[in-house]
Amino acid sequence: MKKLIAANWKMNGKSDWADKPAELNSVLDGKIPDSAQVLICPPSVYLTQIADNAHKYGMNAGAQNCHSEDSGAFTGEISAQMASDCHADYVICGHSERRAMFGDSDAVVKAKAQSVIQSAMVAIICVGETLEQRESGAANSTVEAQLRASIPEASTALNTVIAYEPVWAIGTGKTATLDDIEQMHAHIRSVYGEMFGKRSAKGLCIQYGGSVKPANAKDILSVDGVNGALVGGASLNMEDFAKIIQAA
Ligand code: PEP
Repeated sequence: MKKLIAANWKMNGKSDWADKPAELNSVLDGKIPDSAQVLICPPSVYLTQIADNAHKYGMNAGAQNCHSEDSGAFTGEISAQMASDCHADYVICGHSERRAMFGDSDAVVKAKAQSVIQSAMVAIICVGETLEQRESGAANSTVEAQLRASIPEASTALNTVIAYEPVWAIGTGKTATLDDIEQMHAHIRSVYGEMFGKRSAKGLCIQYGGSVKPANAKDILSVDGVNGALVGGASLNMEDFAKIIQAA
């Protein structure tokens, strides 16, 4: 399985960032390593331009969020169908910032992911424990509960990616230990296997996210069961992001 290296730009960038796929391609000397698949998730207002430019260079594009309904009186929201209409291939569902700041409960995340899958895109479902939960020994049970309540029944290894992002590691410069990452990815694969069968679980892409940088990417991406990275801060600089892609 190729390592899925995804850029989550969050609320950063402007219209001239439409050139970023070309810049990234040039930093990569025109070659994405065979072992890597590149995904860029810009703010949704720039999605069409970024997606079209990403596709020119063999990269994918995704939205950072969507609503679970197809249309209606939901001021300020975009639907999965709209993301698809803007040429997105993926949608991130339930990022911890959405869970913490915008009330995305497990049930909401599940409905969003369902809508993404129905719109023929891939849902990246984010899970992860807080520092308090890890320190109290509740990391596994927290992530398991999120998985069981956030993954829609229609999930397969083809339409779903799980991103394990310990909340305390996002944007903080702290990363989980390689042992903890390996253990949690195995746990996630095992829970997914109980829900959807061992065969599906084997083919499931599980990304790690949380302060992935050029300096730690190789170690993290070499951990057994890590099939990619969801990158925030370091994805805003194409030199740094290229190094993470090359680490794959
Ligand atoms: C993220 O936003 O998903 C993330 C992992 O951010 P950072 O890489 O900045 O920790």
